[in-house]
Amino acid sequence: MSKKDLHHTNSALNIQAGIEQPSQINPNAILGTNRFKKTKINVLDIYKGILSGDITLLSRGITLIESSLQSDKADAQKLIQLCLPHSGKSLRIGITGVPGVGKSTFIETFGLNLINDGNKVAVLAIDPSSTRTKGSILGDKTRMETLSINQNAFFRPSASKGTLGGVARATREALILCEAAGYNIVLVETVGVGQSETAVSQLVDFFLLLMLAGGGDELQGIKRGIMEMADLIVINKADGDNITKAKLAATGYKNALHLFPALPNGWTPDVLTASAIGNTGLNHVWDKINEFITHTQKNGCFDDNRRKQSLNILTDTIDEKLKSSFYNQQAISELMENYKKKIFNPSSKSENINPYEIAQLLLDKYFKI
Ligand code: GDP
Repeated sequence: MSKKDLHHTNSALNIQAGIEQPSQINPNAILGTNRFKKTKINVLDIYKGILSGDITLLSRGITLIESSLQSDKADAQKLIQLCLPHSGKSLRIGITGVPGVGKSTFIETFGLNLINDGNKVAVLAIDPSSTRTKGSILGDKTRMETLSINQNAFFRPSASKGTLGGVARATREALILCEAAGYNIVLVETVGVGQSETAVSQLVDFFLLLMLAGGGDELQGIKRGIMEMADLIVINKADGDNITKAKLAATGYKNALHLFPALPNGWTPDVLTASAIGNTGLNHVWDKINEFITHTQKNGCFDDNRRKQSLNILTDTIDEKLKSSFYNQQAISELMENYKKKIFNPSSKSENINPYEIAQLLLDKYFKI
């Protein structure tokens, strides 16, 4: 402060300079860029973080493998390759059932029970609705509040972009990262209304179907095919007035399961009752899962199933790469656009358009490139 300023401060009639006000605008914010954008972390650091069980870096790793950016592809592949030798050691359990059956509540209670027994539990979700709405419904709900903040739990909602195949692939890779991070139980959740459970059944060792008493198959939207996939059916919400109904439903479903052809692994799926809210019957569910593991490990079907899953990964990867190579070819995409215009031209008649021929032309062109 200068002498002159000092003089001024002595009089109450003078306007004081005051302190300099901070800018109303964050000087670090650059218009048009995402100010929340995280700095890029080296893939090796992500890998090391995952191995040390760092949840933040595990999340970053999963974001990387979910990324559709071409520039992330090489890093994502490298990360999976690094983590792969550390994977495979968890028990992978798929959980499905229609919305409202109580999946979140079940996973919350079941997961906490497992953690109390000394396990580390990761929860991944495949949400097919996300592919339609471009926003994950499962992820948007406030779910599994106690489990998700437990330090021995990791919760990751469904990848919210892409086709079911893409979401399933991302979940499969997320599973690898979770195993590398030391989670010994991975619960993969999906809504039992569509094809996603087929995708989940190809990722897991054990498939659990939650159902309700008195819902009726049609009402619950459960297809016979989903029941056939189940290694165990649990009639959930078996509490209060619902206990008797749940037991009756269990007997009904048990009888229905007898009509299904025997599973190639020699396992007979059972039907149990449980209450996720009351935390009753969940220990029996866990016992059944262990019984299944012992049974299939003994007869070799546990490893066999994983080998089949490896083969699926191989063929899926080839399918996916071929497809993206085809559609990303500039000449192909230009031709495709032309044909699309032709097809949708109001003056063209659908019977004059031969989609088989066009497909063949495009494929011939692709294989000549
Ligand atoms: P999700 O859509 O399958 O994930 O189902 P939620 O876990 O969100 O549960 C749907 C509703 O059922 C919620 O209102 C829960 O409080 C309720 N619910 C979940 N589990 C139980 C249970 O074991 N017993 C009873 N009575 N209600 C339950």
